[in-house]
Amino acid sequence: ITSLGDEARIVADNVAGRIFGGSTPTLRLGVTGLSRAGKTVFITALVHNLIHGGRLPLFDASATGRLTEAKLEPQPDDEIARFDYEAHVRSLVEDRIWPKSTHRISELRLTIDFESASGWRRSFGRGRLHLDIVDYPGEWLLDLSLLGKSYAEWSAEALRLAREPERSDISGAWLQALGGVDPASGAIEDQARALAESFTAYLRAARSDEHALSMLPPGRFLMPGDMEGSPALTFAPLDLPESFSAPKGSLAAMMERRYEAYKSHVVKPFFRDHFARLDRQIVLVDMLAALNAGPAALRDLETALADVLACFRPGRASWLTSILRRRIDRIVFAATKADHVHHTDHDNLARLLARLTRRAAERAEFAGAEVRVVPLAAVRATREVAVTRAGETLPAIAGVPMTGERVDGETYDGETEIALFPGDLPRDPEALFDGDGGADKGVEADPALHYLRFRPPRLERTAEGATLSLPHIRLDQTLQYLIGDRLK
Ligand code: GDP
Repeated sequence: ITSLGDEARIVADNVAGRIFGGSTPTLRLGVTGLSRAGKTVFITALVHNLIHGGRLPLFDASATGRLTEAKLEPQPDDEIARFDYEAHVRSLVEDRIWPKSTHRISELRLTIDFESASGWRRSFGRGRLHLDIVDYPGEWLLDLSLLGKSYAEWSAEALRLAREPERSDISGAWLQALGGVDPASGAIEDQARALAESFTAYLRAARSDEHALSMLPPGRFLMPGDMEGSPALTFAPLDLPESFSAPKGSLAAMMERRYEAYKSHVVKPFFRDHFARLDRQIVLVDMLAALNAGPAALRDLETALADVLACFRPGRASWLTSILRRRIDRIVFAATKADHVHHTDHDNLARLLARLTRRAAERAEFAGAEVRVVPLAAVRATREVAVTRAGETLPAIAGVPMTGERVDGETYDGETEIALFPGDLPRDPEALFDGDGGADKGVEADPALHYLRFRPPRLERTAEGATLSLPHIRLDQTLQYLIGDRLK
């Protein structure tokens, strides 16, 4: 049940927006995805291309020359950190290293001036749109499901997941620490902290490149944002007996209290103050990392996507439904880092993600907003080449591996370009799935798949000496779908 406070605040927000927001229309675009999905790179490249007149042939306002100017302006929300665009551009363009990834919520306002496409509208003067881009960790969306779970239910589920065979080698230390704990014993702060630390260490290992698992709530344990080291995160699941009732003053009672506090003081405010105000959303997904880590990672990603979709169209009985005032009407799921595969594999990449989201949508009983799936490289770090192997010509990619990247025992220096045949993506997504239960345990991704971290590209100069903006793959198409209709 929504408290009166929540309702009143959102109504006040909307009214204030109308009265004080002036006549300039505003579009709040949410950019999310699990850690390392590519949020920071995406926002930086999007803004850079818009400000510097990048090549965006499929973005109508730009292609038809109607985009007059795009510039950064002070953001409307003082309590949110500003997205550090300038530092990220310096990293990408000057140092040619990838920028520092998202670790908390941040915002950036881009004001776009444009000529209207229709003569009738042009007679009312120029158009202007405030695009407020909100960057936030996808891990936080997965917390919505906690709101419907008691501490005992969450504990039981966390333990069940940790005991699954594919997690057993990473969860061992935590489960062992838990083994010697009596939930009914007196609450001791040191013990709570030690358990929270070993639980968090397990979640981190599960998220590492090797395992690339996705379903790892609570979100703030991996992405604490400004809560780094906060006592509000000092709780963990316990192995509770059936129908256990926590005695007053016990460890279990303390853990339960903190879990409930996390839901009301961390999870709910995020959804109420930030998520509920978004108009459009792009969810970035690193399909290649999941494919590389194997079927367990794909299955886990599918479950996570179902939980993400459930946030966009929560069921009627959900707390979130009661506070959502705007409904997100367009959602893009983007398979990022598409420059790691040859363009002949882009369709396969999109098909795989579409298959995962479709199944996730069925699970989440998702209905409503239009969902698009696109293979995307916000920054294109490779070019396409043909390599000949045993007399056969193969479509390959070439790029400069980051300093220290290793392939087949060779370590790269960050300067030498190499050609790489990344391996084929499965053409038929069904090959990765069984009849009903998610990615099939039996089918492995092609073991020859190679994914390297390439250095960001060197920007080319025109004959006049001007620097061109960051190259990309389908950033323009994505932009057209996300904001094109608001620049007509
Ligand atoms: P975040 O955690 O979602 O903010 O992820 P980042 O935007 O920091 O991206 C994580 C890493 O993925 C970067 O450091 C890059 O190595 C890689 N990456 C992200 N986007 C691209 C892209 O468009 N092309 C390539 N080649 N690599 C990318």
